[in-house]
Amino acid sequence: MKSKAWVLVEPGRIEQREFDVRPPEPDQVLVRNLATSVCASDPKIVAGKTSFNVYPLVFGHEIAGRAAAVGRDAAREYGLKEGDLLTIEPTIPCGRCRWCRTQYDYHKCRPLKAYGVTMPADQHPALFGGYADYMYLLPGSLVYKVEEGVPPLAACLSSVIGNGVRWARNLTRLEYGDSLAVSGVGSQGLATLIAARERGAGPIVMLGLTRDRHRFELALEFGADHVIDVETDNPLEAVPNLIGGPPDAVVETSGAPGAIDMALKLVRPLGRVAVIGLSGGKTVPLSFDDLVLKGVTISSDHAQAGMYPDAMRIIHSRKYAIEKINNVLYPLDDLPRALKDTADPPEGFIKGAVVFEP
Ligand SMILES: [Zn+2]
Ligand SMILES: [Zn+2]
Repeated sequence: MKSKAWVLVEPGRIEQREFDVRPPEPDQVLVRNLATSVCASDPKIVAGKTSFNVYPLVFGHEIAGRAAAVGRDAAREYGLKEGDLLTIEPTIPCGRCRWCRTQYDYHKCRPLKAYGVTMPADQHPALFGGYADYMYLLPGSLVYKVEEGVPPLAACLSSVIGNGVRWARNLTRLEYGDSLAVSGVGSQGLATLIAARERGAGPIVMLGLTRDRHRFELALEFGADHVIDVETDNPLEAVPNLIGGPPDAVVETSGAPGAIDMALKLVRPLGRVAVIGLSGGKTVPLSFDDLVLKGVTISSDHAQAGMYPDAMRIIHSRKYAIEKINNVLYPLDDLPRALKDTADPPEGFIKGAVVFEP
C-alpha cells in the first residue's frame, strides 16, 4: 500500500511524495486520515517562521482519522480497535520532565515532540502528519476516540476547541454570568465563544471586521449575544451600550496591534484580558496607564495541554455544529491553495480543511 503525503523539504518548498505503508509495529497505530484542518500556523511552518523548523516534515497537525491497523500493545494502551474514529493531541509528552508532570503545561516539553510540527519524515516510518493519506501514532500519544456520527470535520478541530477551553477557563477564568468580549471571529474566536458558553458566561459580544459577515452569522448560531463590526462601530462605546457596562473579560484572538490595546481599554476595572493572537513579530504599543490604573490582569499562552477532555465533551455533545468552522474544503492535491487561502483569506473563508476519501 502507498500513501501520498505533502513534505516540507526546506523553508518555502513543499512537494508531494509517495511513501510505503506497512503494518504498524506492536506499539503503533496506523491511521487513515479523514480530515485535517489547516492551522493558521501551517503557512508559518512552511515559511520556516516558527521556533522548530524541522525538515523534511510531513506536516498538518489538526487531525481526525480512523484506525486502519492497531498494534497489539497499542490496542491495550489506547483501548482502540481497527475502524475506530479518533483524533489526537499534536504533542507527545515525554512524561518525565517538569512540564510533562503537570496537568496543563506539557506543551512546554523540550525537545517538543509534536505530530505535523517537529517529527521529521526522514525517521522511520516517516508519516507523522495530517497532510497524508495515512499516518502512524507512536507510543505515548494522546489519542481520543470519537463517537460514530460525529463528523470528522468537527473532530479534527479538537485542538482548536481545546484552545478555546484554555482561553475561557484557565486564562480568563470565566464563571457563570461573566460578561465577555471576544476580539476576532476566526476559528480561535469561535472556539472561545463555544467554551465561554459552556462555562455559563454571558452576555458575549464578538468583535470583527466588515469582511467577517459569514463569521458573524456562525457566531450568532453558536450563541453569541451580539456582534460588532469594529470598522463601523467603536467597541469602546458599543460594547458597554449593549451589555450595560464594560465586560468582565476580553479575549483578544486577532493579534492586530490596535486590538490588543483596545482590549485593555475595553475591559472593566480589575478585569481579565487574555491575549492569544500572534502579531507576527511586531512590537505592540500598549497603554500602561490603562493596565496599571485599572488593575487589569493580562494572561497569555498557546496550545491546549490538558484541555482535550473538555474539548471532546463539547464536540461529542453536538450542541454546536463545529464542523461549520471548516467552511472551505480541499482535496489533498490542493494543499498549496489551502495554505494560500489560510494566509490570505478570500471572501467568505472561515477555515480550510483537507478532506480524504473515507
Ligand atoms: Zn493548529
Ligand atoms: Zn516532557
